[in-house]
Amino acid sequence: MVHTIAIEPTTNKKPKPSGERLEFGTVFTDHMFMLDYDEGKGWHDPRIVPYQPIELDPAAKVFHYGQTVFEGLKAYLTEDQRTLLFRPNKNIERLNLSNHRLSIPALDEELVMQAISELVLIDRDWIPSEPGTSLYIRPFVFATEPLLGVAPSRQYKFMIILSVVGSYYQEGINPVSIYVEPNYVRAVTGGVGHAKTAGNYAAGLKAQEEAHEKGYSQVLWLDGVHRKYIEEVGSMNVFFKLGDTVVTPALNGSILNGVTRNSVLELLRHWNIPVEERALSIDEIAEAHRSGQLIEAFGTGTAAVISPIGALEWQENKMVIHGGTTGELSKRVYDTITGIQRGTMEDPFGWTV
Ligand code: PMP
Repeated sequence: MVHTIAIEPTTNKKPKPSGERLEFGTVFTDHMFMLDYDEGKGWHDPRIVPYQPIELDPAAKVFHYGQTVFEGLKAYLTEDQRTLLFRPNKNIERLNLSNHRLSIPALDEELVMQAISELVLIDRDWIPSEPGTSLYIRPFVFATEPLLGVAPSRQYKFMIILSVVGSYYQEGINPVSIYVEPNYVRAVTGGVGHAKTAGNYAAGLKAQEEAHEKGYSQVLWLDGVHRKYIEEVGSMNVFFKLGDTVVTPALNGSILNGVTRNSVLELLRHWNIPVEERALSIDEIAEAHRSGQLIEAFGTGTAAVISPIGALEWQENKMVIHGGTTGELSKRVYDTITGIQRGTMEDPFGWTV
């Protein structure tokens, strides 16, 4: 079903960034999408309006009880000027999965797809074309009912904003150093780790801050029960090449089901590289490092696609991986996925829309 989305075009187009290196998530386009929810009425009034601040009651539930979820995906401009989205259905499915976990009413997935498409096309001239650049799409839902009381909100807003993003890597992909976090945990099974909700990120800030102070880019999260099984790296999923086999932690309820993670798994299987999704302990990684079987490690996520891990510190033991340089598999996966995303490589999986 095609929905009618009301459109109020801006009368005051903003200047676009030109040439300078853009910091991720700082520059927003001319328009945004909005949709309201009221109990009894359901989701209503889809509209695209000029990008602008919004007004909220100070008692809006989102501020007090954190009932909110978000998504992140990208649009790319191809050499022949087509606009591509990468597996948007996966993000829309995950949005409703997060909604479900946070007791937020489900969104009509077709309407969300239509809203993303129409908004991106209206602000199409904002999509940068230089290699490595894209338009980041941020859909999000938040509870707006002005009421202090712990119960699901009866009013919500769903919005989509767009941000121009520069190249994540200035010259090729660069490995990062990672601190294996011994104290803080990000999420536990039964909690909200598998949902893309604000509290997970707030919960991770302290560890990230302390890792930065120690000179590391990010933390490697261990599970909250045994404090030994690997979960994620920063806000990315994580892969290890152990000997000839690639291993990633199985989805156990506390790990986010990353779209990039899923794409990397499909790609590795397509290449006949042995892959395993299973519980993976930090001791197994340390042992693999000792025996020379830790060949490569990398994080996966929409923002950077692939982020190679050059070193891991765990209990004073600094494990250097692949000599601190980008491994062959990391590079091959990065080149293939970014090639498919930008339309310069064949897409045998039908991932681009
Ligand atoms: N884990 C977390 C906690 C994340 O926030 C993200 C980014 N959405 C990912 C993993 C990677 O997911 P994706 O590949 O869908 O971007």
